[in-house]
Amino acid sequence: MITIDGSEGEGGGQVLRNSCALSLITGEAFTIDNIRGKRAKPGLMRQHLTSIQAACQISTSDCDGLEMRSSKITFRPGKVVPGEYSFAVGTAGSTGLVLQTILMPLIYADGPSRVTIEGGTHAAMAPPFDFLEKCYLPIIDRMGPTVSAKIVRHGFYPRGGGKIVIDIDPAPLRAIDCMDRGELISRSGMMKFAGIPFDIAERMIKASRKTLTDWREGAFIYRDLPDSEGPGMAILFEAEYENVTEVVAGFGKIGVKAERIGKSTAARIAGYIGSTAFAGPYLQDQLLLPFAIAGGGKFTSVKISQHTLTAADIIERFTGRATRFSKLDDGTHLVEVGG
Ligand code: ATP
Repeated sequence: MITIDGSEGEGGGQVLRNSCALSLITGEAFTIDNIRGKRAKPGLMRQHLTSIQAACQISTSDCDGLEMRSSKITFRPGKVVPGEYSFAVGTAGSTGLVLQTILMPLIYADGPSRVTIEGGTHAAMAPPFDFLEKCYLPIIDRMGPTVSAKIVRHGFYPRGGGKIVIDIDPAPLRAIDCMDRGELISRSGMMKFAGIPFDIAERMIKASRKTLTDWREGAFIYRDLPDSEGPGMAILFEAEYENVTEVVAGFGKIGVKAERIGKSTAARIAGYIGSTAFAGPYLQDQLLLPFAIAGGGKFTSVKISQHTLTAADIIERFTGRATRFSKLDDGTHLVEVGG
């Protein structure tokens, strides 16, 4: 039984999700206390509860302590059973983070699965659907499995109500190296908005264009979603390279000027384009789990995040595989997941 202090490192929900995924794959039981100990409202929130329930439902596992605000759970993994599953977070809690918990175990199951998840698809501090579809899943596909994602409905904070469907055709993950992003193919911006006046969306795009001055006129697209999917808005910038596509997102927030969100999100995609790193700041922590399960691999990235360091610690606890970090001459960071 592995014992984890959930307040260590990043001290958030990612520790739980990675632990469930690793437990299902390695067969190691774990207990975690001080769940989300570094967050203002610690304990299990709706999104975390749904993620762990999902891990139990796709398998014959059992888990003690599974209730709202719980600060301790004990998870005993069982066999993963592929099939058709539906999960609903019930708030704007992230559909992508529920997927983060169960994707790797289902990739190692002995048959295909279809997973429908309802909740938030575009909310701060979680991977927006576009990131999963264009940045994260293509790399998983390159490692062996075939995973396709479809968005049925968008769901913004605070209402949620989004829906995504994921088809998983399993195959063992093979180790790959992601050292070179390749040539730039395209740069584009998508303004998704629902139930929000057009002029607010336009102000966000206009502000971003003051930073992205060399992007072509037609690179900025507006997507006016049905009012019933809102209210909410997300600005999404995409830099497509031969070997990776980075997706950077900014989310509309009451009390924060549209111009400020447009400007800061544009600065983030410009920062990524200006570096030579393969993985942006969020792909970085999310690559560690599949790489460790594949038995190794390496990639370059931007500054190493606390999420990444924490993910590396948890992975080492379950698999014995250490991750090495070093700084390269071009200012990027090399992440080597041990074999
Ligand atoms: P908590 O509420 O405890 O912070 P959480 O479960 O919501 O917990 P974290 O533990 O902070 O979240 O993990 C957030 C995850 O979402 C990380 O894997 C991070 O890489 C990812 N993420 C956050 N923002 C983005 C983004 N804009 N694009 C892609 N991924 C993101």
